[in-house]
Amino acid sequence: MTRRLTGFQPTGKLHLGNLIGAMRPLVQAQERPDTRSIAMIADLHAMTMEHDPAQLRANTLQVATVLLAAGVDPRRTALIAHSQVPEHSELHYLLECVTGYGEAARMIQFREKSAGSPLPGFSAPSEGPGAGSKHVRLSLLTYPVLMAADILVHDSEQVPVGDDQSQHLELARTIATRFNTRYGETFTVPEGIRPESAARVMDLADPARKMSKSSPSPAGRIGLLDSPDVIRRTIARAVTDTVGIVRDDPAGQPGVTNLLGILRACSDRELGDLHSYGALKREVTDAVEAVLTPIRTRYAELAEDPDHVRKVLSEGKAWVRPRAAETVRRTRAALGLLD
Ligand code: AMP
Repeated sequence: MTRRLTGFQPTGKLHLGNLIGAMRPLVQAQERPDTRSIAMIADLHAMTMEHDPAQLRANTLQVATVLLAAGVDPRRTALIAHSQVPEHSELHYLLECVTGYGEAARMIQFREKSAGSPLPGFSAPSEGPGAGSKHVRLSLLTYPVLMAADILVHDSEQVPVGDDQSQHLELARTIATRFNTRYGETFTVPEGIRPESAARVMDLADPARKMSKSSPSPAGRIGLLDSPDVIRRTIARAVTDTVGIVRDDPAGQPGVTNLLGILRACSDRELGDLHSYGALKREVTDAVEAVLTPIRTRYAELAEDPDHVRKVLSEGKAWVRPRAAETVRRTRAALGLLD
């Protein structure tokens, strides 16, 4: 049995890129008897920048609800909230004791999010969620070690990661290997698995960058819970080019190529004759609608019963904790802590 950990940040709204690049592979993996996934909502990660408590609570529940609406089956995939499994935090500290300050400080994401500082790494980001705050949270620096703990505590063998997380995964591998060498075989060294390149959904307004929750404008994003009208308008306004031919040409026609990629990802049908960008956009709109309508409908049903969603999270927690506790026990013993 291969254990896999997939994480979702409860910051901002989940979008079509998350669905195609992460949620679908998670749902498909449920059909494989040799793979067992944990889907983790990284609420602790959402606290590394200035945050609003009520918003965090709402977002965490919303992400859990969207995952269920999109087909995550809690009988086959353990759905957990990061903070509800305290072993993540306990292992985090233990791993901090085998990680260098320099290793954490050179992570690209830390440097980007803490940029603009008079003392390197210690002032407010100039834009984004932490803008205007007086200081950079220490948790932003140590977050990659928490991520290593998240992965290692569940003995995860596979972690699907995009480019932005690959450096953090590498750090998790380094920490695991170092620990095993120094204190004895304790951790499974995880492997990063990459979504296929076709699974990368680009921003509709700026097809040079990937569709992201953190992009400044919502014009390039299709939210999974957006209304049909918003979806139609967003796709209608998607950036194309002046070539006028519907074809895959990632370098010369990135917008059109992205629309074709979305169409293929959302529809099993053979692509018909698409003579114009207008026709392409109509096809994309119909295909995206066909994929998102059932998710939206199921979401509305589930959102009526937040207690059910909380119960799913609580069952997920009960499911994963014995193994996590055993990993922490092993780690403590290896480090010389009393049991
Ligand atoms: P996030 O919560 O934004 O960190 O992303 C959760 C998951 O969605 C990660 O596994 C990402 O790799 C995936 N993901 C995010 N944006 C995209 C995108 N534009 N295309 C494909 N996958 C994405």
